[in-house]
Amino acid sequence: METIPFNKPFLCGKEFAYIEDAVVNKLKISGNGEYSQWCQKFFEERFGIHKALLTTSCTDALEMAAILIDIQPGDEVIVPSFTFVSTANAFVLRGARIVFADSCVDFPNIDPVDVARKITKRTRAIVVVHYAGVVCDMHAVQALAEANRLVVIEDAAQAVDSQFDGRYAGSIGDLSAFSFHETKNVIAGEGGLLGINNPKYEARAEIIWEKGTNRSAFSRGELAKYSWIDIGSSFLPSEVTAAFLRAQLERIETIQNRRKEIWNNYYGLLKRLEERGLLALPQIPPLAEQNGHMFFIMMPDPQTRDELKNYMGKRGISAVTHYLPLESSPFAEKHPELIERMMCPNSLHFSQCLMRLPLFFALTQKEIETIVDTIESFYDS
Ligand SMILES: *Cc1c(COP(=O)(O)O)cnc(C)c1O
Repeated sequence: METIPFNKPFLCGKEFAYIEDAVVNKLKISGNGEYSQWCQKFFEERFGIHKALLTTSCTDALEMAAILIDIQPGDEVIVPSFTFVSTANAFVLRGARIVFADSCVDFPNIDPVDVARKITKRTRAIVVVHYAGVVCDMHAVQALAEANRLVVIEDAAQAVDSQFDGRYAGSIGDLSAFSFHETKNVIAGEGGLLGINNPKYEARAEIIWEKGTNRSAFSRGELAKYSWIDIGSSFLPSEVTAAFLRAQLERIETIQNRRKEIWNNYYGLLKRLEERGLLALPQIPPLAEQNGHMFFIMMPDPQTRDELKNYMGKRGISAVTHYLPLESSPFAEKHPELIERMMCPNSLHFSQCLMRLPLFFALTQKEIETIVDTIESFYDS
């Protein structure tokens, strides 16, 4: 039986040549070398991010963000219920109390109306996640943040090259975080990036990034020696990671075009099933321009979703569900002092009825047709 995996990492071709160059020619394989700086400049220039710092993961970039905004025990941070654990964990590590906000009714992204309801005197920050590379309603989020003097952090792990009303994901909030994990559009195995748009965080970010020292300024020749001046950790990836990433970023247009083409093909072929009322296709809000990161379908009820998933699995097609609402996690149950456990019904609905279809660069038109035919045969059987 031919099988179709959910994801296959895509190699652009120059990854190994660049790694060899970093190791053999540049003789600089620790962090913050030429390849890292090339990648950072790419994010600053192409996406309009004020200052970019490569990190070892998106999780690390979020942890840097929590340190940078100086979260103190008891501060409240509003986080979507429907997201990956790192979005919340980064702030829990600093002692924050997490208040989960629900998804919109028609899309998994955070609902600004629910965010507004959850702001208190102790709220410090709103963290948004651009689910499936579809940017949240940043007009509404920024307006709430301004009115209540809150920091906005974008978890743009899935949203490289996505846009909202003409601006790139990761360039809008005070801070933002990207991921180059092998399941994202642009990859480096593990890797991430912190975007700093509010210049007031720029100087301290470099220090936290370099283990709490001012080594970055020292490397630029601004200081005679470097010393310990703040808290920090080892957030820089090596040049090996950055060299791999550069090869990917140079081909970003090719990657995005193919992924969006696959996304559109799915949409076109599944439309007739939606018209028969069998499933619902993603509804992309008008101001958001998505990046082909993910294709998901919404099934009418949890049981049908699970049956279809098993039906496809038996036919060699790996379709997968996604997040469980974080307020229902074992960690949240054990730590009522850290987690506000108000239920989020829309998040639960996406958790129970959403299913993601295989989407990767090398997925062929024939495989897309096989996947759609299999979904159709499920209903006809
Ligand atoms: C992938 C992902 C992360 C984690 O990224 P890492 O680079 O693996 O740390 C965080 N948030 C979201 C929304 C993600 O999709």
